[in-house]
Amino acid sequence: MDAHNQIAQRTLRLEKAAQTDWDIIIVGGGITGAGIFRQASLDGYKTLLVEKNDFASGTSWGSSKLIHGGLRYLEQYNFSLVAESIKEKSYLLTYAPHLVHPLPFMFPVFHNDRKPLWMIYLGTWLYALLARFESTPTWFSSQKLLNKIPYLRAKGLTGGVLYQDAQTIDARLTLSSILSGLQDHAMAINHCMCLAWIEDSSKITGVRIQDGLTQKSYHVQGKWIIDATGPWQESKYKDRVAMVYSKGSHLVIQDNPFQLTSAVTMFSPEDGRVMFCIPWLGHTLVGTTDEATQETPDHVETTAKEVAYMQQTLQHYFPHQTNYTIISAFSALRTLIGSTSKNLSALKRDHQINIPKSGLVQVYGGKLTAFTKIALDVMHAIQKQDGSAFSIRHHQTFASVLDVEPLRLTAKDIETLITNEMACSVSDILIQRTFCNLRLADHGQQYIPLITELLQKHFHYTDQQMHKQVHDYLQKCIAIDQLIKKESKA
Ligand SMILES: Cc1cc2nc3c(=O)[nH]c(=O)nc-3n(C[C@H](O)[C@H](O)[C@H](O)COP(=O)(O)OP(=O)(O)OC[C@H]3O[C@@H](n4cnc5c(N)ncnc54)[C@H](O)[C@@H]3O)c2cc1C
Repeated sequence: MDAHNQIAQRTLRLEKAAQTDWDIIIVGGGITGAGIFRQASLDGYKTLLVEKNDFASGTSWGSSKLIHGGLRYLEQYNFSLVAESIKEKSYLLTYAPHLVHPLPFMFPVFHNDRKPLWMIYLGTWLYALLARFESTPTWFSSQKLLNKIPYLRAKGLTGGVLYQDAQTIDARLTLSSILSGLQDHAMAINHCMCLAWIEDSSKITGVRIQDGLTQKSYHVQGKWIIDATGPWQESKYKDRVAMVYSKGSHLVIQDNPFQLTSAVTMFSPEDGRVMFCIPWLGHTLVGTTDEATQETPDHVETTAKEVAYMQQTLQHYFPHQTNYTIISAFSALRTLIGSTSKNLSALKRDHQINIPKSGLVQVYGGKLTAFTKIALDVMHAIQKQDGSAFSIRHHQTFASVLDVEPLRLTAKDIETLITNEMACSVSDILIQRTFCNLRLADHGQQYIPLITELLQKHFHYTDQQMHKQVHDYLQKCIAIDQLIKKESKA
């Protein structure tokens, strides 16, 4: 077989998938599915994962990219979620050190903020206590704080608190988790959609899947099907968990115009919600919004209203630095467990596991931070039903992924992304693998000729297929450019 023909290789793998009796089939290759894939495969289960687009092309690409305990959940007295998240943070800092890094956060406090400085300080000590004092918070007077963040608003500033959390590259962590689980007895395929569950009156026994690159479909049998489709989840079963969808958007600001040496925790002046301004891969991320939406996860877009909301917070915190450039914006949907769309920020961010019918496990809600715990909980739910021994956490380092510098993306990098990291399209490379769409002012369009040449070499795409891929990518860029041109400051 032609070693460059990725399509022929995929087809062989899919035919093999259809002939295998899988222990576990995971539908959805976001961080939840990826975490379960790693855990199940390392446990020795024959595991298949199918993802309809690219891995991490849903919410797990559009998060705030924080691995955090969630200081704000202390306000909701959700100590168990905070304690669990802190434990997860510690695990990921140890076993995924190439993708999860410590990040200091400064919490400046002003007169008239909805919490006084002493209360924030107390909260950060409680946070430190839950983390068994791995790090302790530091109190800053207003003057000391202004020396550290010169562009911060001085008027009304009472001081601040510095505390520790961590940061990641969400889509890369997702891919690393999948690569960690790729063994002889496990398979993960992107651009492969689950069309339907195969079931009889008492049990789900498999799935019908379709290869998005060839349109061929296959029946695949499995003992357990795990629905990890996040905001795409729908269920015809009566005991479906009630869910609300909330949209969260971010702005990417070029470079570091606010001269940040830490992330900054902020309260929105409009509604008092917690927001962040975060240094990320040489740029600054600002977010997020949190509003109920009817948008579907396939078409979720940042609106001008959201851009204005985020800029209002920047203006409030950094009134003397209006000379910044927004280079991109992105949005994703949160799946929150609950039935009210009022005061979404108050809804809990915990996860829930449901077995509505024998052979089917559905995972709801959750956080990026908690993905290895969610994976363990899913395995335990299955093992409880099967009466088998409970899995334990695997203490081995997550697989490495290519560290791409978007300003110097080479042909060799692109070939590696195709052959080692399963990139199949222009968007896979410029969005999920390299974040060029967020990190470069031209969204990586300079690389399109090189990428298309290499994709055609490996996938033998027709000109028409290639044209469609480029067109789809450029449409996304145009939509963002239209939004930010309208809103960006000179
Ligand atoms: C704005 C925002 C900011 C956030 N920030 C943070 C943060 O900083 N830290 C944190 O811990 N958490 C954060 N979260 C939460 C976190 O991002 C999510 O909990 C997590 O990404 C959910 O992952 P998932 O795998 O469940 O869903 P997704 O990532 O959405 O994955 C579901 C996947 O299923 C696939 N799929 C759907 N239907 C099918 C089908 N029929 N066949 C095959 N595949 C299918 C989709 O293509 C998708 O890739 C944030 C969430 C949002 C919205």
